[in-house]
Amino acid sequence: MRLTIVVPCYNEEAVVELFDHRVRDSLDQLDGVEYELCYVDDGSSDSTLDRLRALRLRHSRNTRYLSFSRNFGKEAAMLAGLREATGDAVVFMDADLQHPPELIARMLDLHALGHDQVVARRSRAGDGVARSTFSRFYYRLVNRLVDVELMDGMGDFRLLSRPAMDALLSLPEYNRFSKGLFAWIGFDTATVDCPNAAREAGETKWRLGSLVNYGMDGLISFNNRPLRVSIYAGLAMAGVAFLYAAAVVILASVNGIDVPGYVTLLVSVAGLGGLQMVMIGLVGEYIGRIYYETKRRPHYLVKEAKPQPAATPHHRP
Ligand code: UDP
Ligand code: MG
Repeated sequence: MRLTIVVPCYNEEAVVELFDHRVRDSLDQLDGVEYELCYVDDGSSDSTLDRLRALRLRHSRNTRYLSFSRNFGKEAAMLAGLREATGDAVVFMDADLQHPPELIARMLDLHALGHDQVVARRSRAGDGVARSTFSRFYYRLVNRLVDVELMDGMGDFRLLSRPAMDALLSLPEYNRFSKGLFAWIGFDTATVDCPNAAREAGETKWRLGSLVNYGMDGLISFNNRPLRVSIYAGLAMAGVAFLYAAAVVILASVNGIDVPGYVTLLVSVAGLGGLQMVMIGLVGEYIGRIYYETKRRPHYLVKEAKPQPAATPHHRP
């Protein structure tokens, strides 16, 4: 059995070597598993690439790396690794050792039992109350809106069998929200529990803003249900306006006309204006996605790769 470990790295000079060492340590203990480490340097601006070159020299038999011409994001890096992977199964791992390599053995056991996807589910122990409450709320919202079920704590540490890999590779979209894509392709999925480890060294690439944007992607990258919701919101607003108008007419015919309503007017104009902007933004967001999809740009550009990637059928023009 051949296993490919795909590791996206963006400015990970502080941990890649330690990571490499730890992963090899655990994989060497596995019987009957031939492995290959596939590092994807996502346009790092530190010495990550130099370190990957050195790792490749030291373990040329089962190390490959690929370096992007700039930072294209983790989704692109994962896709590149998936395209490069030659194994019968692939495991995605972060370079910061938040994904304990010891779990790979358990994942392989479950894979051997016939599961096509094995995902590590991280507990939220040790996370801030605000953050975990917010994510619980967020997942509830997302799951109401999108067709596939996304689970809190299920990250990118997962094993995919060859059929699942091919299924993912057959999805041509430009905007890739892999958490959702993993769920969308389906297949028999098993979970393993994973401790909530802190990053070994270096720092997280997430800022609050990027988390919010990521959350937005999760909400709208699946279907048009948010648009539906906005239609219903519009109908509800129109209904309220109609009832209010009726009430005003009735009150005026009973009590005679008086002219209050300055505040009502202001609030409703501002409120409706806001709601309209949100809905236009929502529509614009979908149009923006169509725009990006129609450009058909590649997901990433490679400036250096060792070994040179073979032209596989997965490399679409
Ligand atoms: N990463 C990447 N490109 C990016 C941002 C992150 O390849 O633009 C990689 C990063 O090197 C790491 C993994 O994605 O291996 C997870 O990143 P990070 O640890 O910052 O995220 P967190 O664990 O905090 O969610
Ligand atoms: Mg991390």
